[in-house]
Amino acid sequence: MFFLLHKNGTTTACYQNRGSLATLLSRSSPFSNESGALPIGEHVPSETNTLSGFKVLVVGAGGLGCEILKNLAMSNIPNVDVIDLDSIDVTNLNRQFLFRQKDVGSSKAQVAAKFINERCPWMKVTPHHGMIQDKDLNFYRSFNCIISGLDNVEARRWLNATVCSLVELDEDGDPDPETIIPIVDGGTEGFAGQARVILPRITSCFECSLDSFPPQKTFPLCTVAETPRLPEHCIAYAFTIQWPTVFPDKKLDSDSPDDMKWVYEKALIRSQKYDIEGVTYMLTMGVVKNIIPAVASTNAIVSAACVNETVKLLTFCSQTLNTYMMFMGKSGVYSHTFVYEKKDNCPVCSATVRKMQVSPKMTLNELLQTLRDGDLRLQAPSVTAATSGKTLYMQKPAALQKITKVNLDKKLNDLIEDGEELTITDPLFPGTSLGLSIFFEN
Ligand SMILES: [Zn+2]
Repeated sequence: MFFLLHKNGTTTACYQNRGSLATLLSRSSPFSNESGALPIGEHVPSETNTLSGFKVLVVGAGGLGCEILKNLAMSNIPNVDVIDLDSIDVTNLNRQFLFRQKDVGSSKAQVAAKFINERCPWMKVTPHHGMIQDKDLNFYRSFNCIISGLDNVEARRWLNATVCSLVELDEDGDPDPETIIPIVDGGTEGFAGQARVILPRITSCFECSLDSFPPQKTFPLCTVAETPRLPEHCIAYAFTIQWPTVFPDKKLDSDSPDDMKWVYEKALIRSQKYDIEGVTYMLTMGVVKNIIPAVASTNAIVSAACVNETVKLLTFCSQTLNTYMMFMGKSGVYSHTFVYEKKDNCPVCSATVRKMQVSPKMTLNELLQTLRDGDLRLQAPSVTAATSGKTLYMQKPAALQKITKVNLDKKLNDLIEDGEELTITDPLFPGTSLGLSIFFEN
């Protein structure tokens, strides 16, 4: 490391590692110049910007994605791809600042890329309007770093498993560093957020921490109707049972304040009847829309942390986040950083075969149900017997599904031996399979 002494007495730290920060720290700012206009053409030529040699993928062009793209532009990381399947909704405009009224209905990825490319001429943002699952492994392999600003657990699990599957292991099982693509994952929930750095096969991965993301809450209808215990139950009663009874011909419009006020008031009456506290208008919005309010500044804080980590990962200029930063802004301002440990039997980043003890009378269908509802939270598992190579059940293609469907109602002891190892594949874990040894209870 060395320092550049500027004429005005300030210094700039320079590193001779992967990318040089010199161009980043000494260039003019796109925010302002003497005339107040955009300093178009005054930028460091791309051949002297070593960060231009890197390709970064931004997954998601929503609240986090807009901030991430802006920060990448300000950090002079010009080669960026952005992928999102969403179109712009009028409710996005309050915080997703790359979009305007005229953009409503257009692709988020395309509008975001166009905005950044026009506003920041040194940027080359390539948009992809579509699902992350539609891109192949070569697409993901072409990036030096992937930043995810996603709003749901399923997409993150898929992305994590895909990028982890790109890591090549040598004969000792050690990862080849050239094949490791860091994932910087950001997430926000109201005033809280988190940023983390995942070095696939080196640090814990997203799947290792799945337990900290509880499954989406659904409420059994009988509880909602007969034995409410939570404020959410009262709200669910008001909008799933009372609304259709009172307004049989009118669909509840969750964007209408009048409709939502009606639901809130009915839920409040019900909660008082059952002596349940906690029904608020905000909670009503959350339960009905199944959303947590987005706070623009939380997005800004988390995105800034993500892009800082990306700059460090690309340049090796400083120690990166190890591995998980929580931001807590709900009561005061706190943050906490800790090492999220790898999970020994992580289905994505560990090669261990899981053991499972079941009744020999359990049917294959019941086993698949357990894999969906249990801690693995699989989506649509397919099963082969590893030792015999026998295909037990395949979700796809349709012809194979038809042939193997007959096995679903068979008992496990009619299909496999005690202690048999099964190979499970699932659309959530592309490119990976997990081993499961089945032992029969006596
Ligand atoms: Zn893992």
